[in-house]
Amino acid sequence: MVEKKIPKATARRLPLYYRYLRFLHEAGKNRVSSAKLSEAVKVDSATIRRDFSYFGALGKRGYGYDVEALMNFFSKTLNQDRLTNVALIGVGNLGQALLNYNFRRNNNTRISAGFDINEKLIGTIHQGVPIYHIDEMVEQLDLQQIDVAILTVPSEIAQEMANKLVEGGVKGIMNFTPIRVNVPDSVRVHNVDLTNELQTLIYFINYYQELDDEE
Ligand code: ATP
Repeated sequence: MVEKKIPKATARRLPLYYRYLRFLHEAGKNRVSSAKLSEAVKVDSATIRRDFSYFGALGKRGYGYDVEALMNFFSKTLNQDRLTNVALIGVGNLGQALLNYNFRRNNNTRISAGFDINEKLIGTIHQGVPIYHIDEMVEQLDLQQIDVAILTVPSEIAQEMANKLVEGGVKGIMNFTPIRVNVPDSVRVHNVDLTNELQTLIYFINYYQELDDEE
């Protein structure tokens, strides 16, 4: 387990390292050089060394890194060796897309319960995932020991739902609504605004196009 606090940027790169190490392990590779690792994950080797230094000296000079040891280590660090159940709040268009997707590339994380108010959905099972009435949320979060939730409800009720999630003891919220919800410091929120991302992309394309045209 990670004892020290690691920088956020390092924490964000961990899944990248982990995924590649798993790939190498499945391909029967025992060790990997830092150069190879750097090339594969597209992170420069100085950054990789710095990242890894937060976890103690894991590599050996002239040998590189032991794939299995490193993989197991990251697996523990990322909590991938235990199943993480995730709740889906709002089973509309986006919610159902995420249910269908259900994070299949990652065997240890999955949506295990959906919540909605739509009577047509309640009591049904989608992709193996039961959909409950929103009023059962706090109880189910507790029963299923769910710490993480995905928020895909209409913006108008995003804050109300975030409050309920906090009440249910959730520690992390992946917020797909455009609203910036207020939660206590102990709860982490990651905002994923797909519309915004797309608009920003389009803006950049147009902006750089104009700059090119001026030249
Ligand atoms: P989206 O693509 O954003 O999911 P949508 O058109 O499918 O859009 P929305 O109106 O955004 O649907 O609602 C998303 C889901 O949230 C719907 O399934 C809706 O029934 C559900 N929902 C609405 N109000 C509540 C509520 N108070 N509690 C729980 N779920 C709700």
